[in-house]
Order: sequence, then structure tokens, then C-alpha cells
Amino acid sequence: MTTEQKRTLSSARQDQYALHKNKVKTLKNLQSDQGKLRVFSTQLTSLIDTIPDANLFKDREGRKLITNKLTQRLFKRHDLDWYGKTHIMPRLTSQEIRAHARMLLESDLDIALAKRQFKLHYQVQVDGAGQIVGAEALLRWEHPRYGLIAPEQFIPVAEQSGLILPIGAWVLQSVCEQLKQWLNDPLKKDVPIAVNISPRQFSHPEFVEQLSRMLEENAIDATRLKLELTESLMLHDISNTIEKMKALQLLGIRFSMDNFGRGYSSLSQLRVLPIDQLKIDQFLIRDIVPDSCDAMLVKTVIDMSRKLGIGVIAEGVETEQQFTCLKQLGCSAYQGYLFGKPMPVNEFEKLASRLGIRTK
Ligand code: C2E
Ligand code: MG
Repeated sequence: MTTEQKRTLSSARQDQYALHKNKVKTLKNLQSDQGKLRVFSTQLTSLIDTIPDANLFKDREGRKLITNKLTQRLFKRHDLDWYGKTHIMPRLTSQEIRAHARMLLESDLDIALAKRQFKLHYQVQVDGAGQIVGAEALLRWEHPRYGLIAPEQFIPVAEQSGLILPIGAWVLQSVCEQLKQWLNDPLKKDVPIAVNISPRQFSHPEFVEQLSRMLEENAIDATRLKLELTESLMLHDISNTIEKMKALQLLGIRFSMDNFGRGYSSLSQLRVLPIDQLKIDQFLIRDIVPDSCDAMLVKTVIDMSRKLGIGVIAEGVETEQQFTCLKQLGCSAYQGYLFGKPMPVNEFEKLASRLGIRTK
């Protein structure tokens, strides 16, 4: 071998060694980066699991998506490359993740109305004979990626961001249109619809005006519309609330106090609030059996409402036993899975024909 050849060979070996060393280093880097990424991802996932809003991302696909999306955003914000400088781990607090999850949900919510992703489901309300006395409209969000999202996941976000105003207006408008459609149906024209109203929506200065315009435009009988307000909403700024309720009552609208018994029911306020119905919270119904403490409480509520001339409806009735017990206590209206889950309007109409509608 010539000196020249020896030099070439040695240089090639060096190159090969360097190449090998480099390869190993690159591989090691990559492995550790990937490892870190995996750890990071796992941390993120477990953090996501700890925050309430994350129920939304319970399914694996959804969680993977959100994890990746969040990771990409965080990396971008901290000016990190995915495979480059992952050793600089951004410190994450659960508040940061919560804020990001909220932000993503909010931006999706923002376009949900325009993209017609909201639907209304209707749940029957029946009397002791099982005949329909009303319906509650319950909002559903059909997210293109996460599927059906329950209102408890997104209403608080909508409430906080102010998006509840256009969303709530859409709900009321849709219910008015539904009532108008039923107006010509000899059977369903007598079915009143209850709508949940959020505090921010109710406290908006134009709420009364907006709603009376809707009723007028759709030419519907306002007594067919019932607004479900929560105790906390009613008790906040009570004089203003009463004033608004009275203005709406003059139009014919009726009111139901939702989730009665869950919060801080101030019984004395019941005298001054123009409400037509108390909706006993499912929490009091769940374990109800004759002679139990819950039964005693429910009986007290029923007797008190009767004296005050207010109607009562029990929500969350799931079993025949609960139904029988409530009937014995003198309850007059019921809502719950026993009679029907919330369902799309066409299914509700079929159920209505089967159960029959109580006419006054
Ligand atoms: P809510 O007004 O107390 O509605 C009753 C909830 O109980 C509904 O949940 C209903 O599906 C559920 N439910 C009915 N019967 C039973 C039963 O027998 N067993 C059990 N376990 N649950 C039963 P949903 O539809 O998920 O709504 C949750 C909450 O979201 C509602 O509570 C209401 O506060 C809010 N919400 C729904 N739609 C709207 C809306 O259009 N606007 C506003 N602001 N809030 C809404
Ligand atoms: Mg309700």
C-alpha cells in the first residue's frame, strides 16, 4: 500500500468513526428528545385529566389531539423546535393548561353558531298519569371533532366569554320557531317549552326587549314559553330581577326556579319572586324512598308551594319507585329518564303521540 493509499484509508476510517460517533450522538439526542417529549406528553395528559374542563377530552383521540395542539402551541411560544431544543422544558402550571384548553374551546365555540353545530333536544315533562304537560329544551353541541358535547362542558365557557348572549338568543329563537310550528298541530299546540336562561343572558339590559320582539315576530302565545332561572340568578340583585320578571310576566311568560334545593334557597324570597313553578333538583330525588329524610324535604317543598300557589316539578326521575314515592308526596309533574331522555324534536314528536298530551 502506498503512503498515499494509507493516508486515504486512515482518513476514511476517521470519517467513518466520526460518522458513527455522530450517528450515535444524533440517535442518543433523538432518543432523549423523544423520551422527553413522551414524558412531557404524559405529564400534559395527566395534567389535562386533573382539570374539570378536560372531561371534554375523555376519549383517547380527542385527548391526543388536544395534547399535540397544546404542545405545539407551547413549544412555539417558548420558541422551541419539536426535535431540536426539547431539553429546555417549559414549566407548565395547570392554570396555563386550563387557560389553553379554554382558549381552544372558546375559539371553536365562536364559530359553532355560524357553522350550525348547535342542536336542541327536547325532554318530556309529564303528569302523574304519564301524559305530557311540557318539554324542556336542552342545548347540544355537535363538535365536528369531539362529537356531542354536553352543555355543562361549554356553557360555563360561553358564559364567561360572553358568547352565551348570541348562543342564548339562538336557543330562544329556535324555541319560538318550534312553538310556531306546533301552533297548527291540534295536539302539540298545547305543549309549553321551558328554556334555560343563564345569568349573563338574563342580566343583559336588552333581554326583555329582545325576547318580546321574538314573540311578536313569531306570533306565538307567550304563555307557551317558560323560562328556567336558577336560584342564584334570581337572588342576585333581587329588585332588578323582580322588575324584569314582572315585565316578562306581563307578556305572558312563565317562570320556573331551576335546581331548587341545590343552592341557598332563600325561602322568604319565594313570596316576592313572581315564579310559577319550582323545579326540585335531582339531587333530592336520586335516593328518595318513602319516609326518608329526602322524602320529608320534598314533601315540605310541595306543601309550601301549594300554599304559595306555585306548581312543582321533580327532575331526574329515573325509576318507578321514585315516581310512586313522589306521587304519594303530592308532586304534580315529573321529568326524567323514566319518561324519556332529551331527544331530537322528531323523536320527541313520536313520543308525544305515544304518551298523549294533557289538554286543559
Ligand atoms: P338543567 O336545566 O338542570 O337540566 C337537567 C339536566 O338533567 C339535563 O342535562 C338533562 O339531560 C338531565 N336529566 C334529565 N333527566 C335526567 C335523569 O333522569 N337522570 C339524570 N341523571 N339526568 C337527567 P343536560 O342536558 O346535560 O344539561 C345540563 C345543564 O346545562 C342544564 O341543567 C342547564 O343548566 C344547562 N343548559 C342546557 N341547555 C341550556 C341552554 O340552552 N341554555 C343555558 N343557559 N343552559 C343550558
Ligand atoms: Mg333546566
